[in-house]
Amino acid sequence: MHELSVAHAVVSTVVDALPSPPPRVLGIRVRVGELSGIVPRALEFAYDVAAQDTPLADAALVIEVSPVVIDCPACGPQQLASTHDFRCPVCGTPCGAVIGGKELEILDVTLDDTCVSEDMVEVSA
Ligand SMILES: [Zn+2]
Repeated sequence: MHELSVAHAVVSTVVDALPSPPPRVLGIRVRVGELSGIVPRALEFAYDVAAQDTPLADAALVIEVSPVVIDCPACGPQQLASTHDFRCPVCGTPCGAVIGGKELEILDVTLDDTCVSEDMVEVSA
C-alpha cells in the first residue's frame, strides 16, 4: 500500500524534527497534490497505523488537497478543475506543463505549548 510508506515517511520526518524529549503533538497538516497518486482517505487510515507508538499517536492529521496547476504558454499558470482534462481552462490550449499538483508537503505541526514538564512525564508514562 503506497499510502502506508508515505505515512511512515511523514511520521518519521516529523518525529525527527521534534526536540528531545518530544513535546506532545496535537496535529499535523499536510498538502497532497491531486496528481501525487495519494488517496487522502487511504493516507488518513495509514497515518493512524504509522503514528502508533510514536509521539504523534494523538496528533490529528489534516490533509489539504491542492489542485493541478499547468503553465499555459498563453495565459500563464492556471488551476485545473479536473485531473483528466489537461487543457487551459481559459483558452483551451492542450498543456502538459504541470507545475503544481504532484506535491506532498508537511505544512505545519501543532505542538502542545501548554504542556509543562510534569505533564510530559505523565504523557510518556
Ligand atoms: Zn491558456
